[in-house]
Amino acid sequence: MTQLIDVTVPARDLEGQSPAEILRWASEQFGSRLTFATGFGAEGCVIIDLIARHGLPIDLFTLDTGLLFPETYELWRRLEDRYGVTIRSVRPDHTVAQQAGEHGDRLWERDPDRCCELRKVVPLRNALTGFDAWITAIRRDQTAERASARVVERDRKFGLVKINPLVGWTHDDVWGHVYAHDVPYNLLHDQGYPSIGCHPCTAAVLPGEDARAGRWRGRSKKECGLHVIQPERKVPDAA
Ligand code: SF4
Repeated sequence: MTQLIDVTVPARDLEGQSPAEILRWASEQFGSRLTFATGFGAEGCVIIDLIARHGLPIDLFTLDTGLLFPETYELWRRLEDRYGVTIRSVRPDHTVAQQAGEHGDRLWERDPDRCCELRKVVPLRNALTGFDAWITAIRRDQTAERASARVVERDRKFGLVKINPLVGWTHDDVWGHVYAHDVPYNLLHDQGYPSIGCHPCTAAVLPGEDARAGRWRGRSKKECGLHVIQPERKVPDAA
């Protein structure tokens, strides 16, 4: 049974609270029906650090598209070892080879929206079944699309509550926490990759470029389709 809450109240009350306080509220509010989907960005590593540091019993998973960088798979294992947690693997129905057989080779070059739908959005939708709320690592200052995100909001795309504990943090806040607490992070960040996704769609950025300029370089696409930010409504609807 999906839990109904009026997200406007916690969105207001938790604004400006620390990420740890937001995570603790979410854990107490949703219990085992709360999950964190990490993409292993520096923000996600910080959230895993906070969840482990505060002993919060929050489910963890990642979308393994089969196209992650070797450095990302290595970080996955380092985080599990460091914090003694299991980060579940959620995979698409089709392997990369099966997808090539059905849709043609290198779908990401011809139709990246379709590829993201098959390898990220559909698996995420399936993975969120049975949960009432999910945590994301988005920050408002990452993209124009994310600028209006709230700490707690109704996720109309996936039909549950979305918790964004780092939404008010800056890039420097995230990296300050990483360095202060020796949080494991993707070594590609030290090689010009501030934002890391699947290897066919991620390039290094040049000095002065936007942090996400290397994602789907040369295309108008800026998001996987996982985060659709919509204005808050006064009246809560059924999740
Ligand atoms: S990021 Fe690229 S390779 Fe990964 S699912 Fe999206 S289009 Fe496909």
